[in-house]
Amino acid sequence: MNAPALRVLIVEDEPKLAQLLVDYLVRDGFVCESLGDGSQAIDRMRAFDPAIVLLDLMLPGKDGLTICRELRTFSTVPVIMLTARVDEIDRLLGLELGADDYLCKPYSPREVVARVRALLRRTRQWSTAETASSDVLTLDRERFEARIGHRTVALTQVEFRLLAKLHERPGHVLSRAQLLDAAYVDHRVVSDRTVDSHIKNLRRKLADAAPDFDPISSVYGVGYRYEN
Ligand code: CA
Repeated sequence: MNAPALRVLIVEDEPKLAQLLVDYLVRDGFVCESLGDGSQAIDRMRAFDPAIVLLDLMLPGKDGLTICRELRTFSTVPVIMLTARVDEIDRLLGLELGADDYLCKPYSPREVVARVRALLRRTRQWSTAETASSDVLTLDRERFEARIGHRTVALTQVEFRLLAKLHERPGHVLSRAQLLDAAYVDHRVVSDRTVDSHIKNLRRKLADAAPDFDPISSVYGVGYRYEN
């Protein structure tokens, strides 16, 4: 390999699972370090300076939520959250943790490697992108990516669905209830507050990619509107 190896920090307290991840990622050319105790995670992140972090939710010492929040006060390193429960993922999505992706156990290590690669590709494109040549938004429904000019913004599925719904009716105000219907295809019970927090994250991601591009506005007491 010509490019320097990228470092991955794995915070996972199940030794077999951690080792499996290390084996696959090392085989794929990454340099890995793993720890099983959450209380050391922040120190290691500072010292090891990983290109990406795989972070288990349930950890001894300090849980993944707390670690992710602390990490976001000083770092934008991409984080993939690992959880044993698929129903946890929705709850996590509403918490504005700042995680970039989520994987539910049991996952195949192959899938983990693919997601690590994909996330690194997205975040690196994003950070090295030039100023958007035009503020034209395009949506890639297969990859859940928004493109502004030639910048790519990686979105969660919920964020993507919200943006797509707003984007298809520019100039129209959509209520939180309409947005909830669009965002949660299986009609789970989530609060209006959840829509607000997803929209907030979405606007932040768009603003990070293109600072002058802020097409979503909130209409007080009603909902949200997309304007070109
Ligand atoms: Ca665990």
